[in-house]
Amino acid sequence: SVPASIASTLSSGARKGLLMKGGAVIEAAAKVLAIAFDKTGTLTHGKPKVTDIVPAPGVSESDLLAVAAGVETGSSHPLAHAILRRAEEAGIEALPATDARAIVGKGVEALVGGAKAWVSSPRHAEESGGIADDQSEIAARLETEGKTVVAVFRTGQSLGLVALRDEPRNDAAEAMAQLRAMDIAPVILTGDNPRTAEAIAGQLGMEFHASMMPEDKLRLIREMGATGGVMMIGDGINDAPALKQANVGVAMGSGTDVALETADAAILRDRVVDVPALIRLARAAMANIR
Ligand code: ADP
Ligand code: MG
Repeated sequence: SVPASIASTLSSGARKGLLMKGGAVIEAAAKVLAIAFDKTGTLTHGKPKVTDIVPAPGVSESDLLAVAAGVETGSSHPLAHAILRRAEEAGIEALPATDARAIVGKGVEALVGGAKAWVSSPRHAEESGGIADDQSEIAARLETEGKTVVAVFRTGQSLGLVALRDEPRNDAAEAMAQLRAMDIAPVILTGDNPRTAEAIAGQLGMEFHASMMPEDKLRLIREMGATGGVMMIGDGINDAPALKQANVGVAMGSGTDVALETADAAILRDRVVDVPALIRLARAAMANIR
């Protein structure tokens, strides 16, 4: 019977770490024609490592790291963990910071020693008018190498740049090949900059949309959904609106609670190949019913 087939698909999925919140999710997943992947923490491990530290003229590496680590103490972003780890390894103590607040999709700001300090994308720094031309050029070069670059400021003064690298998950390329063989088009949606996005997208043979704010991700999912079923895979708070908008929102299991609550399905084992596996499972269930 129909309910029996749905129930057995839900439970066999669960045994493989593919959680679907009900039969309607199976039906929608079987119809998916396009998939949007968040980059950081979804296609990549989400465990970036600091690769370069570029202090501004007259600033020491330890001053730069002490301020950056102080500001990032108030953030749960993967970039924040990486910067704190690097400071700790270098034996540099984070300066005490208060009133930390996320600049969504752009960075984080806090009071360090009573002065306003922030760590953000170079783009946000440029908009705020504070980054020197040669620092912008260095940032662009590092981004072309596939690195994410953040700029560090205190009292409106540039202290320098920190570059970080986040490797694609080992099975990401295989998962994309499987999806294309299933006639499903995978694209990257990322808040990161176009140069870094292109470096990762190139490795995986994917299309990409970069510099996306949460509302941009939402709008793009709505547009993609106009021509057929669209699935969104993400892990962060910034992905929640897009996860909700998609016909099927899927959270990576190690992601934030907000992503897990908003999503229709979750991939508990953090394997990208579980995305095509989930769709195969859903397609097989629907074929059984018909
Ligand atoms: P993604 O969509 O790739 O998960 P986010 O929207 O979380 O990216 O972040 C977009 C960009 O904003 C990052 O690439 C970084 O430049 C900046 N950013 C966000 N949070 C932080 C933070 N805590 N520290 C430094 N930079 C940040
Ligand atoms: Mg993310």
